[in-house]
Amino acid sequence: MDLLYTPAEMRAWRRAHDGHSAGFAPTMGYLHEGHLTLARRAREENDLAVVSIFVNPTQFAPGEDFEKYPRDEERDLQLLRDAGVDAVYFPTPAVMYPPGYQTYVTVEEVTQPLEGSARPGHFRGVTTVVLKLFNAVEPDRAYFGRKDAQQLRVLRRMALDLDLGLEIVPCDIVREPDGLAMSSRNVYLSPQQRAAAPVVRRALLAAKARYDAGERDPAAIRAAAIDLIRAEPLAELEYVSLADDDSLEELAGPVARPALISTVVRFGHTRLLDNIELGLP
Ligand code: AMP
Repeated sequence: MDLLYTPAEMRAWRRAHDGHSAGFAPTMGYLHEGHLTLARRAREENDLAVVSIFVNPTQFAPGEDFEKYPRDEERDLQLLRDAGVDAVYFPTPAVMYPPGYQTYVTVEEVTQPLEGSARPGHFRGVTTVVLKLFNAVEPDRAYFGRKDAQQLRVLRRMALDLDLGLEIVPCDIVREPDGLAMSSRNVYLSPQQRAAAPVVRRALLAAKARYDAGERDPAAIRAAAIDLIRAEPLAELEYVSLADDDSLEELAGPVARPALISTVVRFGHTRLLDNIELGLP
């Protein structure tokens, strides 16, 4: 497994493997089974698998957890070696954003609601770094988790709008046995919070059950999730959204098209994201 530290090194590696297809999974490290699923798919579906590890400062707002984001480089590299990854791209913030840096990518509408509204500037950081990573890695396919549902839609939009000529491949959410979506940030949870956290998944399943039983009123479907989350004393509900699956515009009328229920629930300072798709085959 090769380690590349700068865009120039990454591009040179890619050029040395000219004519081979590359699958790419960008991550912020502190890897878990969700990340490794992306890496393995990249491995299986392409000649080459590339994973990046970069905690991207521009997608964190002041006061968020950039400085204390969990890191374990040695363990991450061993896991990627075991997954059969060919190259790891490991740039530093100084390499990605040298003095004088001033160029950002903005996707307009689909970045506005949900996480865009809760974390101003977040998606501008995400699209900027992902485009820079794509420019260095030149992947044929890029693998992203459905857990970050809005991110997936934003990046799909960017790839289309900017003619990137690569495929954005969505990958299913990998969960702990009790249903909690895996996340590097789960390590922040106290044992009590960790024990209560599966309520997030249960709440989404309750909303989906209401939909599957024939309910089409967005407020009633959302209420099924909200009731469960409100009943958990350690949980603080940030939002439950029922939105158009593509645009992520909040549904005003009855659900008549594929839709996405997404939620953010806070346990202390830790924000847990989860979502479930409705009405898709
Ligand atoms: P992160 O390191 O949190 O930036 O995540 C890197 C990639 O892994 C993103 O595409 C995430 O959506 C994906 N990912 C994170 N957690 C999971 C999970 N539990 N299941 C599937 N994909 C995930």
